[in-house]
Amino acid sequence: MGSSLDPKRTVAELKELRALTSDENGAQRVAFTDAWLKARGWMRQKLVDLPLEIHQDAAGNTWFMLRGESEKALLIGGHMDSVPNGGWLDGCLNLLAGVEILRRINAQYHGKPPITVRLVDWADEEGARFGKSLFGSSACSGNLVMDEARGLVDKDGIKLPDALKNVGVDFERVKDSGVELKNAAAYLELHIEQGPVLLDLDLPLGAVLGTFGVERHAIDFHGQAAHSGSTPMNRRKDAFLAAAKMAPYLYQLANEHGGVCTVGSCSTKPGIVTSVVEECRITLDQRHLDKDKLERLYWDARDASEQFAEDANAEVHWERLLQIAPRPFNDELVALCDEAIRETCGKSHRLPSGPLHDATEMAAAGVPTVMMFVQSLHGISHNKIEDTKEEHLEMCVTAFDKLAEKTMAWIQSPPGQS
Ligand SMILES: [Zn+2]
Repeated sequence: MGSSLDPKRTVAELKELRALTSDENGAQRVAFTDAWLKARGWMRQKLVDLPLEIHQDAAGNTWFMLRGESEKALLIGGHMDSVPNGGWLDGCLNLLAGVEILRRINAQYHGKPPITVRLVDWADEEGARFGKSLFGSSACSGNLVMDEARGLVDKDGIKLPDALKNVGVDFERVKDSGVELKNAAAYLELHIEQGPVLLDLDLPLGAVLGTFGVERHAIDFHGQAAHSGSTPMNRRKDAFLAAAKMAPYLYQLANEHGGVCTVGSCSTKPGIVTSVVEECRITLDQRHLDKDKLERLYWDARDASEQFAEDANAEVHWERLLQIAPRPFNDELVALCDEAIRETCGKSHRLPSGPLHDATEMAAAGVPTVMMFVQSLHGISHNKIEDTKEEHLEMCVTAFDKLAEKTMAWIQSPPGQS
């Protein structure tokens, strides 16, 4: 027995991948490109010595299966694709840690673990080329909106279905990928945090509580254009005044209820220095892990907008741009993740994820899911300066491996006995 886990090897392989698929501007593994295929081929080579069954599913996701005594499967996921000029860790750290864990499990159980272990490389997590993230995992979960995806076009005018054909995927059948989840008993994903929370706490690792839900709206205030010199203050219908009062109130709501909110844009018409603003449009992005609190953020903002509009003699209309449900992860797996982290580096922290991940789709599909985050230096990602200390990278492989082992035991223990 004994563990053959070698986290230093993971760091060395990450560097090897970087040398293979990055240039002076960062990682260039955009999905469905030659560089992406090259990276995938490279990863496959890393696993040739293991007794794995490897196949590409109907959505272009690659699955590496170490068959166990039971068909029940532990899933570990990541994505080889990057944004253009991306970082060296986003997505592939998850996969290469998974590679190391497969090696350890294979060695420890002499090629036959008690349950099946499957590593999945999701296709086009980033959506960099077609503007639609989580492609492979949302096809697998069944959430991909086919009519929307069918019409997606890249900057060269190539349609998503045609790009998929190039890599052997039939667009109309991508949801057949769902069969892969038949025996899925748990899903684990390691990821760099991509934000500054763990950095500010000076902690290497954190257990992720889930991914934020999103309410995204355009708010249009409508007043009346009028001469800035001749119109007394009490006769104005000032759309900008209403919008301007809205902004600090929105941020106050996030302070009260938690979550985050952003007023990302503000435009005015006629937009000239001598006119009261007739139309003012702001965009609002609110995110929260708790469904009820997210609703509260939204409705409080809506109610207040009516009041601010009335105060400014203006009117207000809301237009929803996007709505995504919060996806809390599995409580018991979050606890196991916490435990694995504490055993590795003494202290853990639980935090929500602002960005969506493939894990969001697995949680949506009803697979018990958890993610582990490792600290990001500078709190920056999707940029060539994305980085994590090597000692933290090694630590995250160790902790993630412990989580995998604990989760295997969790899957085997019948309900009520754990
Ligand atoms: Zn990622």
